[in-house]
Amino acid sequence: MERVLVTGAGGFIGHHLVSYLKERGYWVRGVDIKRPEFVETSADEFELLDLRRWDNCLQATRGVEQVYALAADMGGMGFISSHHAEILHNNALINLHTLEAARINGVSRYFYTSSACVYPLYLQDRTDVVPLKEEDAYPAQPQDAYGWEKLFTERLCMHYRESYGIETRIVRFHNIFGPYGTWEGGREKAPAALCRKVAVAKLSGNPVVEIWGDGEQTRSFCYIDDCLTGIYRLMCSDYAEPLNLGQDRMVTINELADIIAQIAGTRIVKKHVPGPQGVRGRNSDNTRLRQVLGWEPEISLEEGLARTYAWIEDQVRAKYGF
Ligand code: NAD
Repeated sequence: MERVLVTGAGGFIGHHLVSYLKERGYWVRGVDIKRPEFVETSADEFELLDLRRWDNCLQATRGVEQVYALAADMGGMGFISSHHAEILHNNALINLHTLEAARINGVSRYFYTSSACVYPLYLQDRTDVVPLKEEDAYPAQPQDAYGWEKLFTERLCMHYRESYGIETRIVRFHNIFGPYGTWEGGREKAPAALCRKVAVAKLSGNPVVEIWGDGEQTRSFCYIDDCLTGIYRLMCSDYAEPLNLGQDRMVTINELADIIAQIAGTRIVKKHVPGPQGVRGRNSDNTRLRQVLGWEPEISLEEGLARTYAWIEDQVRAKYGF
């Protein structure tokens, strides 16, 4: 049985990935500073370790053949636009130490989760943005300290592969969403935050839903099940350059709110308030994804949001007693 480590296994994508790998017959160690918040982990072994520390990284990577490195100090726009020093410090330590420890422990394959935040700000200043191709990342002007660190670790992975022969794989996620992710507290991302706001509007009878900015900023959103398929296909492939993983259907944040309200079967009144909006427009160019993996995300935004909304509405009911 192949032994793998998933870091960030207490987080949204990490905990789903543990279950996905278990279903495929792997022995899985999960590591995080916290256990999954909403469901029990299905990992064979789960260790609470702070991966900013070198000794913990050595412990985490012992006796495994593969590493999926998902641990990161991260959140939605509200968080990543206001915690630059912490994010750069924490994530750089996590990634420097995890990759070096993996090398020392003889790990053969290493999966790194980068982000669309590596793409230059100067290509994302319009709502009708041209979809981003992998090679657009340079000349570099990433978004926030979060994006700079992702780009730095992409380079680190590339050099470890060239210098030490460890097979690194690099994915650039574009807005992954789904059930069992953070939906309140300041680290939630737009789809979860909007599902929560629409659920509160529906259950409280007050239809006002706050949107940061004018809501015309554009994004694409990819459902978690497609994300897991993409991660696994890329890890098993021989493709070592960074690869986009996302949907290429772009919607505005206003449209996203309307789709969720329709799913909830409720009327909302959008109230535009000041707030961090990130880049003006962003979309994934999936040309290379299709070429490399012979596949692209297939779950529609409506289907993914219906599953996510149902779970978040249940969470809101349970927590706030509606
Ligand atoms: P998440 O915040 O739910 O999961 C990250 C996990 O890392 C958390 O459980 C957190 O506790 C853990 N972590 C943080 N600091 C740690 C430390 N010092 N030691 C050990 N664990 C630590 O985020 P996610 O959405 O599951 O994202 C997973 C990965 O994908 C991250 O690297 C993230 O940057 C990347 N990513 C996610 C998205 C997205 O849309 N969700 C987009 C781009 C990139």
